[in-house]
Amino acid sequence: MARTTLDGVTKRFESDSETVVAVDDLSIDIRDGEFLVLVGPSGCGKSTTLRTIAGLETVSEGTIRIGDRDVTDVKAKDRNIAMVFQNYALYPQKTVRGNMRFGLEMATDLDDEEITRRVREAAELLDITDLLDRRPRALSGGQQQRVALGRAIVRDPDVFLMDEPLSNLDAKLRAQMRAELQQLHDELEATTVYVTHDQTEAMTMGDRIAVLNDGRLQQIGTPMELYYQPENEFVASFIGSPSMNLVEATYGGEALVLDGFEYTFTEGQREQLTTLVQGDTVVLGIRPEDVELVDESGPRTTEFTASIVEPMGNENVVHLEHEFGDVVATIGGSQVVRQGDRVRARFPADHVHVFDGTTGDAIFNRTRTEETAPGVIGSGGVSGATGGDAP
Ligand code: ADP
Ligand code: MG
Repeated sequence: MARTTLDGVTKRFESDSETVVAVDDLSIDIRDGEFLVLVGPSGCGKSTTLRTIAGLETVSEGTIRIGDRDVTDVKAKDRNIAMVFQNYALYPQKTVRGNMRFGLEMATDLDDEEITRRVREAAELLDITDLLDRRPRALSGGQQQRVALGRAIVRDPDVFLMDEPLSNLDAKLRAQMRAELQQLHDELEATTVYVTHDQTEAMTMGDRIAVLNDGRLQQIGTPMELYYQPENEFVASFIGSPSMNLVEATYGGEALVLDGFEYTFTEGQREQLTTLVQGDTVVLGIRPEDVELVDESGPRTTEFTASIVEPMGNENVVHLEHEFGDVVATIGGSQVVRQGDRVRARFPADHVHVFDGTTGDAIFNRTRTEETAPGVIGSGGVSGATGGDAP
């Protein structure tokens, strides 16, 4: 397996009428054994990036290294990568075994015994041993996807490149395959670049996530870093579901001024706003899960009308209307709000983000409490101390 680095990679598609910059000065350092997710909206350059790593596209500028090797001008077949696509592209006339053997027979000089051994091991790993003599049409979508993975695994590549490999599967199977792919990655410890437009997939699978928009890298970090410390509005709204609420406001010195609401800052927050001058436009961000419905009025609290209530069972997604705009709140499934109700909601000081109204860059992010600090999430031993969650 191998570290893979992109250094200033730009890919332009030029035709007579126009030039499309699909990837724009992209630098990413993918660690040996890392599972890196490339995520972003359709057309942002994910597939093109992956194809330049694979050698299926030449780069217009920049350098790509795999392991110790500069592969920028190396042919795809000599890069020792394996790619898994959304459409599995299995040979319909060949059996599963034949599909898995084919690449090795064509592109390597491995002997028959070694090929047989690799196919057997990959089939065991993927739990498809009893399917080896079937043809693709006799397989379910999930099984076909496993075969496509198997075909990649037998190559024993330096890097796995996966382009939306699960998007043809139904929701339940996708969730299952997501978990299986992670397990597989734990076993193989293979450097993997995984492309998806689905932020849930990115959050659940990635060691780190690189967010792309318009061919440009917006931010790269762990799922928790992107969730708690988005560097700009784009990342803030792309990561997390439902999306972060973002409302425009005017900086008024002591407070943010919105239509019908003043959001007062704590002293700590004011110290982080020294670059602003009164009258500047900023964007206040708060995630739906951080909006609190409260009984009493108080600081950073205002009244809304509930316009839509979406019961999800475990939680309710409530759309709240205010003069300054709409805000979405997720509340406990047993907390009752009816459409048309007047409700009070608070934006707790520790949970708000402020972005520059012009550039969209974060001016400050919400506080990360002990609970949400790096290395503590998922370690299991933390009990409910929410720390400085003052109103
Ligand atoms: P994504 O995978 O994120 O949806 P792509 O990498 O496929 O995005 O495409 C990025 C941009 O490059 C899009 O604007 C797309 O239309 C353009 N593009 C991709 N491939 C080509 C091509 N072969 N010729 C011209 N434009 C292309
Ligand atoms: Mg794509």
